[in-house]
Amino acid sequence: MHVNIVGAGIIGLAVAFELESRAHTVTLIDPAPGQGASYAAAGMLAPAAETVWGNGPLHQLLAASNAAYPQFIERIASATGQRPDYLQNSTLVVAAEPADREALHELAELQISLGLSAQKLLPSQARKLEPALAANISGAVLCQDDHQVDPRSIVKILLEHLRPHLVEERAQALVTDGKRTTAVRTASGRILEAEQTIVATGLGTLDGLNELPLRPVYGDILRIQGPAGPPLITRTIRGIVHRKQVYLVPRRDGSLVLGASVREDRQQAVNIGAMHLLLDNARKLVPGISDCTLNEATARARPATPDDRPLLGRLDPGLLLCTGYSRHGVLLAPLGATLTADLAHGHQSHPLHQAVDPHRFANAT
Ligand SMILES: Cc1cc2nc3c(=O)[nH]c(=O)nc-3n(C[C@H](O)[C@H](O)[C@H](O)COP(=O)(O)OP(=O)(O)OC[C@H]3O[C@@H](n4cnc5c(N)ncnc54)[C@H](O)[C@@H]3O)c2cc1C
Repeated sequence: MHVNIVGAGIIGLAVAFELESRAHTVTLIDPAPGQGASYAAAGMLAPAAETVWGNGPLHQLLAASNAAYPQFIERIASATGQRPDYLQNSTLVVAAEPADREALHELAELQISLGLSAQKLLPSQARKLEPALAANISGAVLCQDDHQVDPRSIVKILLEHLRPHLVEERAQALVTDGKRTTAVRTASGRILEAEQTIVATGLGTLDGLNELPLRPVYGDILRIQGPAGPPLITRTIRGIVHRKQVYLVPRRDGSLVLGASVREDRQQAVNIGAMHLLLDNARKLVPGISDCTLNEATARARPATPDDRPLLGRLDPGLLLCTGYSRHGVLLAPLGATLTADLAHGHQSHPLHQAVDPHRFANAT
């Protein structure tokens, strides 16, 4: 079978890789591959720490995809000869103030009740694990199964691998025969025919696609360079500081990712106030970041849905939708790719298909 995949962010690339490994041929269409939300993402793979009240079956999706990650990485490594920067080094969530500790412990109870790994620690126990933590933190939770990957490494490796199948153009419109999507028309007028077309454009759109329940949720995120010598921290540290979230993700090369704001103001450039707050809050948890230097400040929009779950399903006999990964696209890439490839084959037997059905909001009204 030949499949068009519109959009080559981490989701489109993971889907293309999955289809290729099932012996299908693919055409990837994207004028700026890897430069959307996937370029900004920290790459936290945090099924426990990302589970909050009121997200329904989202935690099942997150946990299933996290469990699939080691095999996803192995398959990429064996198909391409290059290994993404994946670290199974756990996550420590810390609270700055006593009120933050209450919120943290309440969340930990929820996470434990759902079978996720979240263990309450005393501040002294947390500081034994991470001596760079501030002396006055008020509580901590260790999420043993929450890991991280550098999403840029996955994108780079998959893009190199799939480049022969890439058309570096905007997809302008879906072409139909009245019953099904049969092709994609690019901005230059090329018609790319395929038995199946998969729309994985994040927030991007194209003619012929109905309006989707998506909105941009911007995030500012910094990449900083740690001091020379031993790393400042050895695992991801997420914090709640005066009810605001902040995180530091240490990379193997000594750099750190410090994020991320959550803005719905449609301002595309990095916001100074948000950046200031992130730095201030991160410094309250790990004072040593004052000695770091700034490598990069980036802002991108997360393709967010009303319930933070993706929109993944069939739109017509030749068209599949695979977007709306909100704040979890890096974590959900292996599961999203499997579910999408199954649908392309006509299988919808996975128990999690219903949780991501793109028609669920229409059905609810
Ligand atoms: C600051 C920040 C931090 C984040 N941290 C994490 C994290 O720690 N863990 C996690 O799991 N997730 C995280 N995310 C979320 C994650 O980045 C997204 O869910 C994920 O990148 C979505 O991937 P995507 O491929 O669907 O979208 P994108 O990466 O946006 O890719 C969409 C692609 O489609 C292309 N496109 C759009 N329109 C068209 C068109 N008409 N024709 C052709 N191509 C088109 C674009 O050029 C783009 O390359 C974060 C996001 C942000 C912003």
